[in-house]
Amino acid sequence: MADPKGFLTTARENATHRPVFLRIKDWREVYEESSTAEFTGQAGQKQAGRCMDCGIPFCHQGCPLGNLIPEWNTLVWREDWQRASERLHATNNFPEFTGTLCPAPCESACVLGINDDPVSIKRVEVSIVDKAWAEGWITPHVPTALTGKKVAVVGSGPAGLAAAQQLTRAGHTVVVYERADAPGGLLRYGIPEFKMEKARLDRRLDQMRAEGTEFRTGVDVGVDITAEQLRAEYDAVVLAGGATAWRDLPVPGRELAGVHQAMEYLPPANKVAAGELDRSPIHAEGKHVVVIGGGDTGADCVGTAHRQGAASVTQLEIMAKPPLARADANPWPTYPMLYRVTSAHEEGGERVYSVSTTEFVGDAGGNVRALRLAEVELVDGRFTPVAGSTREIPADLVTLAMGFVGPEKGALLADLGVDLDERGNVARGRDFQTNVDGVFSAGDMGRGQSLIVWAIAEGRSAAAGVDAYLTQRAVLPRPIEPTDRPLV
Ligand SMILES: Cc1cc2nc3c(=O)[nH]c(=O)nc-3n(C[C@H](O)[C@H](O)[C@H](O)COP(=O)(O)OP(=O)(O)OC[C@H]3O[C@@H](n4cnc5c(N)ncnc54)[C@H](O)[C@@H]3O)c2cc1C
Ligand code: SF4
Repeated sequence: MADPKGFLTTARENATHRPVFLRIKDWREVYEESSTAEFTGQAGQKQAGRCMDCGIPFCHQGCPLGNLIPEWNTLVWREDWQRASERLHATNNFPEFTGTLCPAPCESACVLGINDDPVSIKRVEVSIVDKAWAEGWITPHVPTALTGKKVAVVGSGPAGLAAAQQLTRAGHTVVVYERADAPGGLLRYGIPEFKMEKARLDRRLDQMRAEGTEFRTGVDVGVDITAEQLRAEYDAVVLAGGATAWRDLPVPGRELAGVHQAMEYLPPANKVAAGELDRSPIHAEGKHVVVIGGGDTGADCVGTAHRQGAASVTQLEIMAKPPLARADANPWPTYPMLYRVTSAHEEGGERVYSVSTTEFVGDAGGNVRALRLAEVELVDGRFTPVAGSTREIPADLVTLAMGFVGPEKGALLADLGVDLDERGNVARGRDFQTNVDGVFSAGDMGRGQSLIVWAIAEGRSAAAGVDAYLTQRAVLPRPIEPTDRPLV
């Protein structure tokens, strides 16, 4: 156990955010550097000391990766950060991705959270990995022997990267194909720099290259290389192309200039932040920005619009405003559906709940100038407009952040002949293999739109399936089943 009295004597703390007026002038992560540095020393040790090392660690259940949280908390409390890093990496290939981006379902399941603030598990996680990189403890794990088997991974998001790293380390020859300019999936071109700096991603990609994983970018598999060629060249294929088909809003005026999908708006902004582009072709400067959708993607649009100098930012959500405390029907240790204020929301803007967009209104030049909305209420399980509640708000730039409907149904899936499930995702069995022999699927492509932590767990589990298929051994860890779902 860590500090036997830690949970009684120490309050929960997290790293502090930089002042809003400063941080919206740049794209860097929102945290105060001096504060994050403190957590790689005594401040982190004290937070880890709050862990009670419960007989049944519910945090393990909360974390899809099954991270060994009490173990690394105890090691941090004992100032054995290097072993803490080893235990952390035993279950998570990329703790800096989850340590910065995960909504931390482990903390919702922390036993201390029943009657006190839960342990700052996510902060301890990122502090361990930050210290490990700084101390040079994270090095390439080059396989000692090669199996002679070749594996293609299609897609380089967290699922593809986790699968590729596991398979390379198991001795297979792995090539990751990515149609974008650079690897990373949504970690690079979806999620903005202020949530996770791309240097964290690039450092991992360097580690993977040093281990032997090969990356081929700018290759649209199914178009630039056919499914047939892929099957002929590789012994196994992992499909990790994400759930990139976005949900649209087919209301009058959708065709107006200035109405864009979030994933049309965010990638060029991320390229500007990375120095790959001077100015985004879709820019919020001086504009009234309306973001439709209240989730992570919407929050990323809000933070991006603030940094581009928007005149105003309004975020619309069709659901009612969530409660401030757990509802009776949403008890511990389930993931709490609560009102959350992300770092992007701290930076300003207005959030409007229980509204639905009925029309985009244009000017004479065909540009959007306003958005017409109606308040809605749930009647017999359907959102129904409230009579007389329609109003207009100014809107020169609208981003649609309403989620994704599944993988793109392009040439790749059709030519491979993989079956889809009833939700339109790639169907797979317990070993993550599709109906096509030797073709596996991991991440959002099989699960539907989800989270980084699930994508990494999927990548690790699919790698175990591939390794068993290629070698008839069962040595790689398989943290989840394809059907596992969050504790809700
Ligand atoms: C804007 C945004 C913000 C988010 N923020 C968070 C967050 O804060 N925390 C969190 O946990 N989750 C977040 N998510 C969700 C998370 O990013 C995804 O669940 C996760 O990235 C899924 O990983 P993946 O590897 O399955 O797919 P992706 O990350 O989508 O990667 C798939 C990759 O496959 C490539 N690809 C597809 N088809 C082909 C092809 N035919 N040939 C070659 N390449 C191909 C794509 O270009 C893409 O790079 C966010 C999602 C979005 C959109
Ligand atoms: S990966 Fe997410 S759920 Fe797991 S320990 Fe880290 S923050 Fe918690």
